[in-house]
Amino acid sequence: MTKGNSAKARRQPSVLIIGAGMTGICLAIKLREAGISDLLMIEKGSSVGGTWRENTYPGVACDIPSHAYTYSFAQNPDWSSLLAGGAEIHAYFKSVFEQYQLDNCTRLNEKVLSSVYQEGRWHVQTDQGNHHTVDLLFAASGMLHQPVTPELPGRAEFSGAQFHSAQWNHEVELEGKRIAVVGTGSSATQLIPKLINTPGTRVTVFQRTPQWVVKVENEAYSAEEQQQFRNQPDKARKLARQILWVYDKTTTALTGQRLWHRLMRLSMAWNARRYLNQAVKNPELKRKLTPDYAIGCKRVVLASGFYEALQQDNAELITDSISAIEDNGIRTSTGEFHEIDVIVYATGFNPVAYMRPMKFLGQDGLDIESVWKDKVQAYRSVLLPGFPNFFLMIGPNSPIGNYSIISIAEAQTAYAMQLVEAWRDGRLDKIDVSAAATQEWNQKLRAKLKDTVWATGGCNSWYLDADGDPLSWPDSWQNFLRSIESPKWDDFVGANAGSAESSANA
Ligand code: NAP
Repeated sequence: MTKGNSAKARRQPSVLIIGAGMTGICLAIKLREAGISDLLMIEKGSSVGGTWRENTYPGVACDIPSHAYTYSFAQNPDWSSLLAGGAEIHAYFKSVFEQYQLDNCTRLNEKVLSSVYQEGRWHVQTDQGNHHTVDLLFAASGMLHQPVTPELPGRAEFSGAQFHSAQWNHEVELEGKRIAVVGTGSSATQLIPKLINTPGTRVTVFQRTPQWVVKVENEAYSAEEQQQFRNQPDKARKLARQILWVYDKTTTALTGQRLWHRLMRLSMAWNARRYLNQAVKNPELKRKLTPDYAIGCKRVVLASGFYEALQQDNAELITDSISAIEDNGIRTSTGEFHEIDVIVYATGFNPVAYMRPMKFLGQDGLDIESVWKDKVQAYRSVLLPGFPNFFLMIGPNSPIGNYSIISIAEAQTAYAMQLVEAWRDGRLDKIDVSAAATQEWNQKLRAKLKDTVWATGGCNSWYLDADGDPLSWPDSWQNFLRSIESPKWDDFVGANAGSAESSANA
């Protein structure tokens, strides 16, 4: 790092953001507020909003209360209920996008194919034949955007409609159909009750592992309450703080083995079991729905109608594994055959794709595929050594249990902005973190992660990488914030220890 020179003009960067979802919109707003006008946001989809554009399955909703699933700088007094539905959340992101007039820096229906760092700049190629050369590059493509459909034997032989929950085929008529749902995660538990309640359906749910389900009633806000949120914005902020406090405490309870961690987990498990005991009377069904691993090991499901719907006459829960898909149905390991017209795969996402499959080359041709061959990791989630002036938003170890991803994106944006400012005024020639600092950071993380419930809870989940190391944050929200409150300048390549401000966030 070189010392700032007040006589030197501040550099005005050209910036490209990949993805116009929740994080891309946040970044674009904050970059513009910092006076950066040479800005382009490229989005592969036909509208902004990322996850909330892609996921249109029946019942799609957020399991984080709406007032805490809102940008801190763009409150929304009009949320219709405690847990807003997907279409409403999508509309919210579109309205913020419009309010900040981001359309003049955004290109839709354009996919980034490659990003290559050469001679101090990023060269970005898109599928529309466009080539952009920029100083700073942000990947805001999200974490769970590549749906995974299992390669079940005979899948191609199935003659009916089949699709992933995140690629819902709205052309397919569901009324009167025999529908199979594979999976019982957060997506499945939201869509299953809707399918069961669709007239004339018969729904067969194929569960591999039971979930911990906590009951949450989705109460509507009255017009009067919405008016209060409008007139008193502090009321909505206070509510958001209270919700996030609860999410922080319950998530932090998953990160350690101290007495209070275990007591909190016991209390969460007791709450979930009480819902199961109250909602399900049939002992055989209850047994099938009872998890045998620690609560929180998989993302806890918040639901209100899942158990109830499963007990309707037109629903069936199958726990035998699927051995094959045939022309007109699904056969299980016991040889039993289920005639099916439509298969829905609610089978989750690849959590380590990030900005891939695009070609991504850093300094001296460094290829992300070889860097991440053995381990997908980053420095403080957002930086990759050898990939200067590049920010990976919501990167490895960003998710904080069930905590609001919007708060995480805002915190990472604020961290990135400090580095951008250091680059602009010459305190950093380039934003590049050292390999040694990255290694040290990950060693510390892994030491802490081994005590978390994701590593010790006895389950398999998308939180775990191929080595069984959790991809989540192993500590409280407060410590996450502290870790990126201000850059630890000594960790950056070319840092001048004499002039570097040291920070206490090691
Ligand atoms: P998921 O949590 O990964 O669940 C996938 C489900 O599919 C699991 O039940 C899994 O079983 C099952 N499965 C996968 N492969 C299978 C196979 N070959 N055979 C049988 N079953 C198979 O995926 P998701 O439900 O889409 O949720 C992913 C994440 O998206 C969530 O954790 C959450 O972060 C986010 N999400 C959030 C909300 C929200 O309300 N905020 C809503 C939806 C999704 P196993 O458990 O045995 O692996």
